[in-house]
Amino acid sequence: MEHINTLIIGAGVVGLSIAARLSQHREVFVVEQAKHFGEHTSSRNSEVIHAGIYYPTDSEKARHCVAGKALLYQHCKDFSVPVKQLGKVITAQNDAEIQTLEKLILQAEQNGVDDLYRLSQAELQQKAPQVKAKEGLFSPSTGIIDSHQFMLSLVGQLEQNQGHFVANTQFISATPMQQGFLVTLNCEGETFSLSCTHLINAGGLYAQHNAAKIEGLNSAKIPPIHYCRGQYFSYQGAHPFKHLIYPVPEQHGLGIHATVDLAGQLRFGPDTQFVDAIDYATDSSALDKFYQAIQRYWPQVEKSKLQIDYAGIRPKLQTTGSQDFTIEDRRIHGIPGLINLFGIESPGLTASLSLAQSVTEQLIAE
Ligand SMILES: Cc1cc2nc3c(=O)[nH]c(=O)nc-3n(C[C@H](O)[C@H](O)[C@H](O)COP(=O)(O)OP(=O)(O)OC[C@H]3O[C@@H](n4cnc5c(N)ncnc54)[C@H](O)[C@@H]3O)c2cc1C
Repeated sequence: MEHINTLIIGAGVVGLSIAARLSQHREVFVVEQAKHFGEHTSSRNSEVIHAGIYYPTDSEKARHCVAGKALLYQHCKDFSVPVKQLGKVITAQNDAEIQTLEKLILQAEQNGVDDLYRLSQAELQQKAPQVKAKEGLFSPSTGIIDSHQFMLSLVGQLEQNQGHFVANTQFISATPMQQGFLVTLNCEGETFSLSCTHLINAGGLYAQHNAAKIEGLNSAKIPPIHYCRGQYFSYQGAHPFKHLIYPVPEQHGLGIHATVDLAGQLRFGPDTQFVDAIDYATDSSALDKFYQAIQRYWPQVEKSKLQIDYAGIRPKLQTTGSQDFTIEDRRIHGIPGLINLFGIESPGLTASLSLAQSVTEQLIAE
């Protein structure tokens, strides 16, 4: 039977970032059940490099977003991945929202993001023409990235380090052995086994399902999964925006915001709705809700130019309150060589290289 050092389940930004980094030190295989890498959440998001403003002090999200942002801008430079540090305007419409902006400034400072500044009405109009807001805040380090090119660069790095990306191959189950794991995989209908020393579950929306197939893993160490869909409307035609425009954040997400992609296309989203299954079907009846949310900060938006676009699904661990990334290694579940990553929702794209750095350090230390 073939033995490999590390098997990574899932070729989204997280699995690929870990693979690219860890393959500098170890033999790495990444298996992906789909035909291509990044077919799930990693290609169904806003493609925003987040600054690290919102997340609670000392949370994994705050730590990995701020560290990941710096690593990601550097990576884009080193590997010629298309990126633009556009900056974003966060808008407040009333006194309660102005208080939220004030809290955001403090939270950002606690997280090590000290470049936010308030916008006067004149600056607001200059940075965000046609935008209506009582007050605004500017985040200069927010940007946008081509996530497909980013993942392509990671596969390139992995292969340069003699690692392997294997598509159409599904992780089925694992049994811990004296050292490492006996793993069963299914490649295009054929089942086969191999052994590995380390197993990393970066299965995104399927991470809990995968964890349940690892023998000996206490089910109490597998958090629940709740699918929270977020869909986007694109805006057909010209628009006045050079920066990203956000409302203040809401309970499950950052609010229906305006992003401009690298081609200059404006789109709005994501909204939030809990759903029962991983189903990316969109619902155009959300148009009125989008129109009303956008009108709050851009009164001149034309409803007829909003076209339903695509949807992504957040792997939520709970249906209320804020949640953090959950990275479980032997110190938590007691199985040497196993790392599970759960609940890697936003800002997982921004955080991916920092998550990869810390998983690599953990495995090398084991
Ligand atoms: C609507 C939305 C907007 C977002 N916007 C942003 C943003 O602007 N900025 C940001 O930083 N983050 C954003 N995020 C978060 C970011 O997209 C995710 O955190 C990130 O893409 C997660 O990557 P991942 O690799 O963990 O998961 P995925 O991309 O889902 O990858 C997991 C992979 O594992 C594979 N897999 C699972 N189980 C198996 C198995 N048994 N065998 C083989 N393969 C398997 C899956 O097929 C999948 O390809 C957003 C998320 C959503 C939903």
